[in-house]
Amino acid sequence: MEKSVLIIGAGPAGLTAGYLLTQAGWKVTLLEADPTYVGGISKTVSHNGFHFDIGGHRFFSKSEEVNRLWREILPDDFIERPRSSRIYYRNELFSYPLKGFEALKKLGLVEAILCVLSYFKVQLFPITDPKNFKDWVTNQFGERLFNIFFKTYTEKVWGMKCEEISADWASQRIQGLSLGKAIFNSILPQKKHSKLTDLGLKTLSDYFFYPRKGPGMMWETAAAKILVQGGEVFMGHQAKKISFNRDLLNWKIIAENKSGALKEFTASHLISSCPLRELINNLTPEVNFRVSESANSLRYRDFICVSVMLKNFKGFKDNWIYIHDPSVKVGRIQNFKSWSPEMTPGPEFDCLGLEYFCFDSDSLWNLSDTDLGTLAIGELVKLKLIDPQCVIDTFVVRQEKAYPIYDDSYRESLKIVRDELEEKFPTLHTIGRNGMHRYNNQDHAMMTAMLTVKNILSNKKVFDVWKINQDAQYIEVINNKENVIDFPMLPQKVA
Ligand SMILES: Cc1cc2nc3c(=O)[nH]c(=O)nc-3n(C[C@H](O)[C@H](O)[C@H](O)COP(=O)(O)OP(=O)(O)OC[C@H]3O[C@@H](n4cnc5c(N)ncnc54)[C@H](O)[C@@H]3O)c2cc1C
Repeated sequence: MEKSVLIIGAGPAGLTAGYLLTQAGWKVTLLEADPTYVGGISKTVSHNGFHFDIGGHRFFSKSEEVNRLWREILPDDFIERPRSSRIYYRNELFSYPLKGFEALKKLGLVEAILCVLSYFKVQLFPITDPKNFKDWVTNQFGERLFNIFFKTYTEKVWGMKCEEISADWASQRIQGLSLGKAIFNSILPQKKHSKLTDLGLKTLSDYFFYPRKGPGMMWETAAAKILVQGGEVFMGHQAKKISFNRDLLNWKIIAENKSGALKEFTASHLISSCPLRELINNLTPEVNFRVSESANSLRYRDFICVSVMLKNFKGFKDNWIYIHDPSVKVGRIQNFKSWSPEMTPGPEFDCLGLEYFCFDSDSLWNLSDTDLGTLAIGELVKLKLIDPQCVIDTFVVRQEKAYPIYDDSYRESLKIVRDELEEKFPTLHTIGRNGMHRYNNQDHAMMTAMLTVKNILSNKKVFDVWKINQDAQYIEVINNKENVIDFPMLPQKVA
C-alpha cells in the first residue's frame, strides 16, 4: 500500500501528525479550510502590528513527549511568563486560583462566614455521585462560593445552566482544587516553577511558556517544516466530500476553495481533525441513521474575541480576568501584552481581548464588527477597566465550534459514532479536539496525533487514542489498575 496520508485540518493535531509523518518519509497532504492562518483555534491573528490569540494559549503539559516536540519545532522562541489571572466580582478583583484568605477578606466578614459555613456543610453532607457542574463545584467549595465565583462565568461560557453541564468538565478543568486547598495554598509560600517540564496541578501552575509571537508562531513553524520535509499544505481548501473506496482501499477527498473550485485528493490513510459531525455528514459510504443522528446531536459553543487596541493604557497587568458580572456580556478579558511584549507594535500600546461565548445562531454572533467593537468598549468603560480616550482601534475574530459541549447525551453519542468508525473504517483516524469531541488543550490534541502516527507507522492499532487523558498521558489498564504512561513507546517487536 502506498505510504500516503490525507490530513483534514492544520490545527495542532493535524500539523503534529503531518510533521511526524513527513519526518518518517510518508507522502502527506494537509487540507486547511482557513485561507490565511494555520493553527486552528491555536492560531494567532495579526492586525496592524498587533497579534491576538483565540483566547490566550498557555504552553503547559505534563507530557514529556509533547514538551520535547514543542522544543524541537520551536527551539529558540519560547518565553517564560508569570501567570496572573483574577476574577472580577462586584468591582473587586480576586486572585484566581482563589486564595482562600484574600477571597474571604474581600467578600466581607458576614459573607465570608456564610461561605465558610456553606463549605463545612458540604464537607459534612457532600452531594453523593455529583453528576453536574454545580454539584461537583459545590462539593469542592460550598454552594455560596459556587454562586459567587463559578456560576456566572460558567453559564456565560456554555450558554446553559450549571445543572445541565456534565461534572466531567469541572473535574477536568478545576482538577485538584477546593476551598480547603485554596486556603492552604494561600498560607504556603509560593513555589516557582521554572522548567517547561515541571509538573504541577494544571489550575495552580504559576508560570507558563509561550511563543514570543503567540501560539500561531509554533504552528506556522510546524507548517513550514512540513513543507521542507516534502509535505503539502493546501490553505483555503475545505474537505467537502470524503469517500472510502472499498475496492482500491483508498480515501478520496473533494475539497472546495473560497472561489468554489473543487480539487480531488487521494491517499491510503485519512486523518481527520474536523468536527465529527462534519466528518459523518460528508462521509461515503454513508453511516446508518442511528450513527448520523448521534453525530448530529453533538453540540458546540462558538466564540468571539473583540480586541480593543489601546495607547497609553494604565490599567491591570494580569494575563486575563474572568468577569463574574451578569450585567455585561463579556466572559473573560485577555491582556495580550502580558502574554508577550511582542504582541503589540510598541511599548506604548496595549491590547485587551474581550471574549464572548455564544452560539452562531445568536444575535451577538451576527452583530457587525463595528457594533461588537462598540459593545466591547462600552463594557470595558462600564467595568471601569479603561479610559475610553486610550482606544485606538478594534478588531473582531469569530471562532466557530470553539468548545465541544459536554451535555447529558454526548458520551453515548460519541461512543456510537466512534464504534461505527472504528469497525467500518480502520484507515480513518480521528484526532484532536473537535475531531474527537474532547474539550482539551493542545497537548491532548497533539498526543492523539502522535499516537495515531505510531499506529500508522506500525500498520496496526497499538494505541487506543481514546485512552489519552486530559493531561495528554496514556492510560493503560493492567490487572484492573490504571497506569499513567507519559511517554508511550511502541512495543519492541512493532518498532
Ligand atoms: C478560548 C480558548 C482558550 C484556549 N486556551 C488554551 C491554552 O491556554 N493552552 C492550550 O494548550 N490549549 C488551549 N485551548 C485549546 C486549543 O485551542 C485546542 O486544544 C487546539 O487548538 C486543538 O487543536 P486541533 O488541531 O485538535 O483543532 P483545531 O485547533 O480546531 O484545528 C482544526 C483545524 O481544522 C480545520 N478544519 C475544520 N474542518 C475542516 C475541513 N472540512 N476541511 C479542512 N480543514 C478543516 C480548521 O479550520 C482548523 O484549522 C484553548 C481553546 C479555546 C477555545
